[in-house]
Amino acid sequence: MHVCVIGAGVVGVTTAWYLARQGLKVTLVDRLEAAAQGASYANGGQLSYSYVAPLAGPGVLGNLPDWLLNADSPLRFHPRLDLHQWRWCLNFMRACTAGRSRQTTAELLELSYYSRELVHQLTAREALQFNYRRNGKLIVYRDKNSLAQGMQQVRFQAALGSQQHGLSTEQCVALEPALAHIAPALAGAIHTPSEEVGDCRLFTQALLDRLLATGQVETLFGTEVLGLRRERQRIAAVVTAQGELQVDGVVVCSGVASRPLLKDLGMHLPLYPLKGYSLDVPLTEDNARTLPGISVTDSARKVVYAPLGKSLRVAAMVDMGTGNDRIDPVRIDLLKKQVRETFPGLDLSGALPWAGLRPATALSKPIIDVTRLHNLWLNVGHGALGFTLACGSASALAALVCGEQPAINLAPFRAGQVC
Ligand SMILES: Cc1cc2nc3c(=O)[nH]c(=O)nc-3n(C[C@H](O)[C@H](O)[C@H](O)COP(=O)(O)OP(=O)(O)OC[C@H]3O[C@@H](n4cnc5c(N)ncnc54)[C@H](O)[C@@H]3O)c2cc1C
Repeated sequence: MHVCVIGAGVVGVTTAWYLARQGLKVTLVDRLEAAAQGASYANGGQLSYSYVAPLAGPGVLGNLPDWLLNADSPLRFHPRLDLHQWRWCLNFMRACTAGRSRQTTAELLELSYYSRELVHQLTAREALQFNYRRNGKLIVYRDKNSLAQGMQQVRFQAALGSQQHGLSTEQCVALEPALAHIAPALAGAIHTPSEEVGDCRLFTQALLDRLLATGQVETLFGTEVLGLRRERQRIAAVVTAQGELQVDGVVVCSGVASRPLLKDLGMHLPLYPLKGYSLDVPLTEDNARTLPGISVTDSARKVVYAPLGKSLRVAAMVDMGTGNDRIDPVRIDLLKKQVRETFPGLDLSGALPWAGLRPATALSKPIIDVTRLHNLWLNVGHGALGFTLACGSASALAALVCGEQPAINLAPFRAGQVC
């Protein structure tokens, strides 16, 4: 069987990997010139298997007015005359209940733990170089109420296999001395020793290199897919700017562009682009003294810090409705200000800014599913967790393509279950 995977981000490359391991011939197509040039390029670097709670949580609606009115808010909303935007927001708001959030957390934890198992297998067997480390994660809280809510989540997830524990501010600073400066502003922290970090772009490219060496996969970079030609209940060909590609099956892994790609087939994927920003701060001699060695998440500001080899990756913010992935200097200045307030000794003069679009569903769950066209599959909508969930999603999808029973229950990730 010959399958075309559309999109060479982390989701597309892992999908190609697991399809090839099933013995299938794969053609991986991307309109850009290399792998991981979209949302997978410079993300937060967190392999955040135990922090998968959806963005739509029970406390979110109460915080919204504050976030929307405050210029320094982690969330910025640009309203548009766009029915899709308002429908997505409505579905998001409906999902902001404790019950829904717990159900989604449990479903995502099953997928993320499966992903973790596969990442461990891959790193053990393939010796991929992507600044991978199991350095643990500290979520720091700036007020007692948020810490109490965080601890409630810890207790809930303990029953689902997560190993996390609360720390006082003193214990937190003892574990990560780089946090000493903000200690007076902290109420405490939650520590998850098993969390990991890595560079998503390096991972994706290293995995693709291994894959190409097998000879089972060919890549067509710089090749835009314009549409999919349908014949009755199946896809007959992938239509590209360079001509048609005849294949037996197609898996769409095109991130935020999956929605426009499938519109002509009458499929309206419930994906919305949520723009985020990152900074890559080089590890100079001075910076090496100030950098945290553990991953840190500043819960109030929604900023994540990951030490990645010779740099510190800082990622943050959700901008909704901007319609593009341009780097907004105002948001980058705000991010730099927040970094300086947290780690004042850090020299940001060489920091590289980046912006990317998270392909998000309202429930924060990816779609891993076959469509009503029996040789067309979807692996899309990984939102803020694409790096974390990629391997599990890809392996489960590959089983689906081959008519096998996936290792995890995919019912929560059917297209109808995520909006
Ligand atoms: C600021 C930020 C921080 C993040 N931090 C984290 C984190 O710490 N941990 C984590 O797990 N996740 C994180 N994420 C989320 C993660 O980066 C995404 O979920 C993931 O990269 C999505 O991967 P993808 O392969 O679906 O999409 P992409 O990486 O965008 O890949 C899609 C590919 O499809 C191609 N394509 C699209 N349309 C076509 C077409 N018509 N023809 C040909 N090719 C096409 C594109 O060129 C692109 O290469 C973050 C995201 C952002 C923006």
